[in-house]
Amino acid sequence: MNLFDPIVKATEIGQLVIKDNERKYYRIPRPGRWYGGIATADCCGCNLKCVFCWSNKPRDNPEKIGTFYSPEQVFKKIIDCARDHNYRLLRISGNEPTIAKKHLLKVLSLNDKTKYLFILETNGTLLNEEFVMDLCKFRNFHIRVSLKGTNPEEFSMLTGAIPQAFDTILGNLELLIECKIRFNLAVMLSFSPEKNVVMLKQRLKKISESILEDFEEEYIFLYPHVVNRLKKTGIKPLIAYTSGRR
Ligand code: SF4
Repeated sequence: MNLFDPIVKATEIGQLVIKDNERKYYRIPRPGRWYGGIATADCCGCNLKCVFCWSNKPRDNPEKIGTFYSPEQVFKKIIDCARDHNYRLLRISGNEPTIAKKHLLKVLSLNDKTKYLFILETNGTLLNEEFVMDLCKFRNFHIRVSLKGTNPEEFSMLTGAIPQAFDTILGNLELLIECKIRFNLAVMLSFSPEKNVVMLKQRLKKISESILEDFEEEYIFLYPHVVNRLKKTGIKPLIAYTSGRR
């Protein structure tokens, strides 16, 4: 398999899903029970290719699906949805929100004037210094970084990306800590032997013990298309949920 650099991939995917300051979405808004109730806008396009990804066409063929929305349109749809359902949380999910940085920052700026908390779900690959400095300007948000695997080799096997990107993500976590940005780390552990989890926790402890205080374990859901993806790669999970919804 040809491994790719997720930063280069983000630029390529961005050309398909960003037009001026608009971004492509395939489902908006989506009310849901996650986090106790949250209004979601599901975007198209990701810079990783996880073997367990639940997103199908919006990830693999973002040029063939979805509609472009401005930040103002996206924000209005999710905040109206939150008001209708009495939620306190908003998010962009479905694929990777940080691919369209300017678009995302505008949504965050619109939300900063409200009482709603924005949950920024990300794979963490694009949280570089410049972007983190921009994020520092906002207050009403929390970042949930979802790390795919426990070490560079697992990460690369699961995502198709170069193993070095794993260390980049851990470096990005240090930036978030330095800038005092609220975040928690979720780690995909379905494919990880216990000894790898222990070693990851030792690494994280050296960055900051606070990461371990809010360490979230993630396990895959065996949706039919996820089972098909896994079959094609021959990669087998050690632990998985057989039902459930994201
Ligand atoms: S980072 Fe998320 S959206 Fe992207 S491929 Fe992985 S699971 Fe799918």
